[in-house]
Amino acid sequence: MGVFSSMEHYDYGELHLKRDAATGMRAIIAIHDSRLGPALGGCRFIHYDTEAEAITDALRLARGMTYKAAISGIKHGGGKSVIMRPPGQFDRTALFRAFGQFLEDLGGHYITAEDSGTSLEDMEVIRSVTKNVTGVKPEHGGSGDPSPYTALGVRRGIEALVKFTLSRDSLEDLNVAVQGIGHVGYYLCKELHQLGAKLIVADIDPLKAERAQREFGATVVALDAIYSTECEVFAPCALGSALNDQTIPQLKCKIVAGAANNQLAEPRHGDDLFQRGIIYGPDYAINAGGLMNVASEVTGYDEPKTREQVMGIYDIIWEIADRAKNAAQPTNQIADMIAQERLANPR
Ligand code: NAD
Repeated sequence: MGVFSSMEHYDYGELHLKRDAATGMRAIIAIHDSRLGPALGGCRFIHYDTEAEAITDALRLARGMTYKAAISGIKHGGGKSVIMRPPGQFDRTALFRAFGQFLEDLGGHYITAEDSGTSLEDMEVIRSVTKNVTGVKPEHGGSGDPSPYTALGVRRGIEALVKFTLSRDSLEDLNVAVQGIGHVGYYLCKELHQLGAKLIVADIDPLKAERAQREFGATVVALDAIYSTECEVFAPCALGSALNDQTIPQLKCKIVAGAANNQLAEPRHGDDLFQRGIIYGPDYAINAGGLMNVASEVTGYDEPKTREQVMGIYDIIWEIADRAKNAAQPTNQIADMIAQERLANPR
């Protein structure tokens, strides 16, 4: 597919490319939408076999960022950048400085953050050239690890759906099956355990599952068994596409609410959950706590304010559930509708 055809396919307006002769940097910045504010999104630094693959990767992910920001009331658009990792030896500092200059040249139209293959140190190098970067050291105004905030938001989304569908005010004795006890999954388990929920966990890394067993009294089950676990809530916190043709028929939960991005293998899987009477907390709405935390760096990090905003994910999820019930439509469709309404009427 040609570049413009790819942009059309992924519904893009802007794609910026830069080659820096001195460092060999080949970088791509994809801006999906900036109606609500400057685009914000991570920078990937990984190996790509082809330029087309790198461009597709940049285009693939930023749309979700646009929707996540819109539904969460964050004044940012969606963007994503990719630096193609050079083969052999290279000067990493010079490369990220060149990338910082690329951001500076865009005049704040895109603000970057950490992603696969980039680190806090890389963000610090970018910061030496431009202010259009987040994920820097706390002493430079950075907001630190976003995972606890993502987990807090997911917990609030679970509370909203438990109240909405089960009319329960508390998570005491609620059974929650958590898939993936990584950065977010661990903090989610901690939050839920503190509120008296009973945890069932699975992780491909046995040490991570065992840690949840040890610290939170979780029951560890086999990877495939997590789908068919009898529980009120299934929380996918591992990879994308956890909800697909094979897994959905196995579910015995009433609610799906977790941190993973792109949980539905295809949008039609949202319909499938709806037909089965399972309410789904749309991924980009329920997992926006981390983005809220990072976005707050742009205006000057304020922890209490960010925390309050993340707590508000309860209301966002409630609104989605309520509108979905009234319209007799799946929650993923309603979430898209709300995000599109906000994008069409930026205030
Ligand atoms: P992570 O890599 O720290 O954790 C993922 C965990 O899932 C790991 O422990 C891994 O071993 C496990 N895992 C992988 N495949 C599995 C499988 N098939 N079954 C069970 N466990 C499996 O990642 P994370 O930062 O915790 O993010 C988790 C998900 O949430 C990702 O989809 C990520 O994109 C999304 N997310 C994360 C944040 C954040 O703040 N970190 C924010 C928004 C969304």
